[in-house]
Amino acid sequence: MSTHDFETVRYDKPEAGIARVMMNRPEARNAQNLQMTYDLNAALDRAAQDDEVKVIILCGSDPHFSSGHDLRDAGRDRLGKDLLPVGTWGGFSLGGAEGRFGREQEIYLQITRRWRNLPKPTIAQVQGKCIAGGLMLAWACDMIVASEDAQFCDPVVTMGVCGVEWFVHPWELGPRKAKELLFTADSWSAREAESFGMVNRVYPRESLAESVMVMARKIAAKPSFALKMTKEAVNRSIDLMGQQSGIDQAFGLHHLCHAHNMLQFGTVIDPAGMPGAVANKPAKV
Ligand code: ZN
Repeated sequence: MSTHDFETVRYDKPEAGIARVMMNRPEARNAQNLQMTYDLNAALDRAAQDDEVKVIILCGSDPHFSSGHDLRDAGRDRLGKDLLPVGTWGGFSLGGAEGRFGREQEIYLQITRRWRNLPKPTIAQVQGKCIAGGLMLAWACDMIVASEDAQFCDPVVTMGVCGVEWFVHPWELGPRKAKELLFTADSWSAREAESFGMVNRVYPRESLAESVMVMARKIAAKPSFALKMTKEAVNRSIDLMGQQSGIDQAFGLHHLCHAHNMLQFGTVIDPAGMPGAVANKPAKV
């Protein structure tokens, strides 16, 4: 199978039963533009629908896993045209909160939920920076395996918004650490993330890829239906504890913050936290 099937994402099957999806915009620190969002979606769909695949690795080309959403993405007008939506919200060409809400429902909330619910085990292989939207990608996976130099951060409060759109911070970090790390915008290390229970395993950078492959091999040796049902059982348990409702309520507050910033500053993020933001030209967070 080709390793160059997508513009911004590489897809390959390194071993039997294992698919690997690699973000491949190293010049942009794997910032996620709209092309990458839909390339990731297509690649993950391919892995989900390939009956030979039992486990999926999501990784980023060196040096960084992902620096988050690409704030300079010029492709916003492509949504709903050559980039086909996965959800039903629409309204992408409309103004006000309606357009903003519809757009972020599609490209941040619904698509992340879709990836989180893929019926096969997923492993995020994280090295270097994993910031904001990068966290959303890692958190959507079932397991996170990181290198010792990995750094995690959600700096979105600095931009006047209450955290990234996929709001699982209290679940991933615990409520008190979630508050600390959101309020301060501090980074946390792979070892700290492991102590919170957010990261499964930490390895030296040079052995990260092989260590992830060892884990993937163990999973790929298990019966596929048992793997799918196990994932469903855990995810539905978390849902019953209220995770999905928690994400949805925080998403509403996220958009109240965008609306506040627009009323206050003429841009959807606080310009003090994003010096490049220009009034009346809504930035993408
Ligand atoms: Zn937003």
